[in-house]
Amino acid sequence: DRLRPEGAEAVTISIGNFKGGVSKTTTAVTLAQGLSLLGHRVLVIDTDPQGSLTTLFGILPDTEVEEQDTILPLAMGTETSIRYAIRSTYWDGIDLVAAAPVLFGAEFALPARQTQEPGFEFWRVLDLGIDDVRGDYDVIVIDTPPALSYTTINAFMASNGIIMPLPPNALDFASASQFWSLFSDLTGELLTKRGLDKHFDFIHVLLARVDSADAASTVIRQWIGQTYAEKVLPVEIPKTAVTGVASAEFGTVYDVSRYDGSARTFKRARDAYDSFVGQIEGSVRAVWNGQ
Ligand code: ADP
Ligand code: MG
Repeated sequence: DRLRPEGAEAVTISIGNFKGGVSKTTTAVTLAQGLSLLGHRVLVIDTDPQGSLTTLFGILPDTEVEEQDTILPLAMGTETSIRYAIRSTYWDGIDLVAAAPVLFGAEFALPARQTQEPGFEFWRVLDLGIDDVRGDYDVIVIDTPPALSYTTINAFMASNGIIMPLPPNALDFASASQFWSLFSDLTGELLTKRGLDKHFDFIHVLLARVDSADAASTVIRQWIGQTYAEKVLPVEIPKTAVTGVASAEFGTVYDVSRYDGSARTFKRARDAYDSFVGQIEGSVRAVWNGQ
């Protein structure tokens, strides 16, 4: 059976990479839509104060998002369950917790509480905050800011698995190794010493925005394969004008009503995302079977 077994909870997935512009937000939205087309109920949480994911859902962070629509009240401790912030979207089967610039406040609220409140664990605020709704969804997708921030750590600590989108160019490859050392810290010695043993059910690297005309990308794809080995998903999301245009118009390859689905570049991007979404659905099911 493909859908969530009785008693199983939502599988939570963070889309993370400390670099900006690597396709995190595009991946988060497209994954959510692809999973929803397969029949899954999805909650998407935007934890980036820039609110790009919120914008892709047609909501303007500057004018249409209030502090209490974001995860900031969780960070400040005025709320304990994320339920207050959940809103429905134009996309049937996807709910959203929005973000806006005001969410930068979480970067001050969390460390302040850590010093002021004995026993407070800044890294578990989101994890505890979504407990209340884990029974209501099949998958929770969290889009993260391009920084090693308190908010990003909260997203990872709340997640069963991580997807790191990585375009095959030299600078993105270099900065990804910094991202990787945080994982070692999260899963390794540093946190274990503090009694914080974090286990991820899966960590995937997604080759994104792959420009097949770029000769250097072939070499860098080999480096990525050597460095991340079996973590690299067997799919590549092509760099296509279509994907770029789609998001400029606040849409994705799954908004077929808005684009010519038969155009060849469109189909290529769409097929790649279908394959990616299918692989992630497999990871989700593996978590459910192990629960
Ligand atoms: P991030 O969230 O990591 O900053 P985004 O998803 O916002 O990255 O993507 C950055 C820019 O790259 C956006 O303008 C987006 O439309 C574009 N983009 C993302 N994926 C692709 C792709 N496969 N092909 C072409 N452009 C893409
Ligand atoms: Mg983004």
